[in-house]
Amino acid sequence: MSLEEYLRKRNFSRTPEPRGQVDAERSYRSGKERIYVIQRHDASHLHYDLRLEKDGVLKSWAIPKDPPTVKGVRRLAIQTEDHPIEYADFEGIIPEGEYGAGTVEIWDRGTFDIEEWSDEKIVIHIHGEKLKGRYCLLRFRKQKDGWLFFKTS
Ligand code: MN
Repeated sequence: MSLEEYLRKRNFSRTPEPRGQVDAERSYRSGKERIYVIQRHDASHLHYDLRLEKDGVLKSWAIPKDPPTVKGVRRLAIQTEDHPIEYADFEGIIPEGEYGAGTVEIWDRGTFDIEEWSDEKIVIHIHGEKLKGRYCLLRFRKQKDGWLFFKTS
């Protein structure tokens, strides 16, 4: 796991986003629960950023529409670069001209458990305020970063 892409895309003398580092000690050994967060990101296009703690980073997906709170709604989720754990607490304004310029606010947060995690399919149990229950992320075969995100029960 590396935050190389995250760090490369940002100028930390201009953005208030956390610099952060990979924190592989956080889960498992510390006995902490895995972080789940969705940030509402009002950038050039309003979207929602789903972040799930895994291997010391926040695995991340951008969802162009409101995240599914009920069964039967499928949302496109585009995988984006891994973010540092500290990003889960970030809210603020990314200045104009910077990567992701716009307003970030926490839309939902909590913890999650993993039922299955492979390159093609992720099944998790989300314990948030807005999202609760069993959710699936399923990778498109055709599109490298394209996933479907939906609630299964
Ligand atoms: Mn975003």
